Amino acid sequence: MQRKTVAIIGGGPAGLMAAEALAAGGVQVDVYDAMPSVGRKFLLAGKGGMNLTHSEPYDAFLSRYGSRAPQIAPLLAQFTPDALREWVHGLGIETFVGSSGRVFPTDMKAAPLLRAWLHRLRQAGVRFHMRHRWLGWTDTGTLCFDTPQGPQAVSADAVVMALGGGSWARLGSDAKWVQLLSQRDITIAPLQPSNCGFEVGWSEYFRSRFAGDYLKSVAITVQHEGDPDNQPPSRKQGEFVITAEGIEGSLIYALSAGLRDRISASGTAVIQLDLLPDWPLQRVIDEVSRSRGARSWSSHLQSRLGLKGVKTGLLRELVSAADFADPMLLAHAIKALPLTLLAARPIDEAISSAGGVTFEGMDPQLMLKALPGVFCAGEMLDWEAPTGGYLLSACLASGRAAGNGVLSWLQ
Ligand SMILES: Cc1cc2nc3c(=O)[nH]c(=O)nc-3n(C[C@H](O)[C@H](O)[C@H](O)COP(=O)(O)OP(=O)(O)OC[C@H]3O[C@@H](n4cnc5c(N)ncnc54)[C@H](O)[C@@H]3O)c2cc1C
Repeated sequence: MQRKTVAIIGGGPAGLMAAEALAAGGVQVDVYDAMPSVGRKFLLAGKGGMNLTHSEPYDAFLSRYGSRAPQIAPLLAQFTPDALREWVHGLGIETFVGSSGRVFPTDMKAAPLLRAWLHRLRQAGVRFHMRHRWLGWTDTGTLCFDTPQGPQAVSADAVVMALGGGSWARLGSDAKWVQLLSQRDITIAPLQPSNCGFEVGWSEYFRSRFAGDYLKSVAITVQHEGDPDNQPPSRKQGEFVITAEGIEGSLIYALSAGLRDRISASGTAVIQLDLLPDWPLQRVIDEVSRSRGARSWSSHLQSRLGLKGVKTGLLRELVSAADFADPMLLAHAIKALPLTLLAARPIDEAISSAGGVTFEGMDPQLMLKALPGVFCAGEMLDWEAPTGGYLLSACLASGRAAGNGVLSWLQ
């Protein structure tokens, strides 16, 4: 009897994990990708230190998927954060837990892991077809690809789409699939930037002096006034960087989904910066109020509070001269400096994207209800999560779930 064939379109972590599950199930697996090589975004993720997953308790882990936690839970159940670590160890790569609880490969890199993984997939019989851009279907339901040898039609018993989100198009995930699937009546929540930076209308003076500078050890509070759910304000501590256009960095990414939604709803979002998060307000008031003698405000703030550089620059940028001269108002500004965000930076610059193929349009095995035999996985599904290993964890888990889903469907 002929072996069943499965086409996987998209060779990122989700597609490769689907390939692994399918190859283990004994079907012929062909991976197609538009780029000259697979896993380009995965490799980029390894540049700043590949954060594979997180070691926090499972309930906390799951809560990072916000309103999509109920849909992500059954996928993670098939490939838990612990199982992910075991899987990495199985590829001969050791992992460690960083001080933040994040899990990394010991060498922090993605390339050795990807190399070992591709080697194992090839040995399992997975075939790779690079520079094959999927363009849609023929009238008879055959897959159409643009290849260096010209147009090619491919038939398969089932298909897994793992085409990625909408950021960093130059690495392959250009979201052209949105139009192709919409034409087949698949509901797709609009793609939006996630884990992204924001625009601030800096003065030319501030931009030219401080773009590129890090604000270390600050806290951001986001008020949820007007929120029908009456949420308490969110406060997070960490660091971020000033850019020519605004702000970005890990602390901003952690708050980015809510800030993006606030800007969509109200036009702007206001955050409050605490420039001295470990100091109680009263201590700041006391220090600012001490006599400064002949010293300038800058040297007073530096000697009494250790504030200097970009932190003082921000105060000068955002606090009026009159408020700056009033110790009480200045102390309050140091602890809760309002900063207005005007827009999210473009999706192509974001670490990931929100939106995608809706879970309502798929069955629990991730098969599109409108296209039997076609499964979806990875960042192209409608979920988002902060950085911290949650993105790869859900991409890999959904790839495995889609692969397993195909196997049960073929049976
Ligand atoms: C700078 C950066 C750092 C990151 N760091 C981390 C991190 O440390 N930890 C973490 O968890 N996550 C991280 N991420 C996010 C993570 O890399 C992505 O969420 C993940 O790669 C998404 O996997 P995927 O398989 O769904 O899609 P992708 O990895 O985007 O792969 C999709 C594939 O589909 C192919 N494709 C698209 N359209 C077509 C088409 N029409 N025809 C054929 N092929 C097509 C693309 O070429 C691509 O190879 C980072 C992302 C960025 C940008």
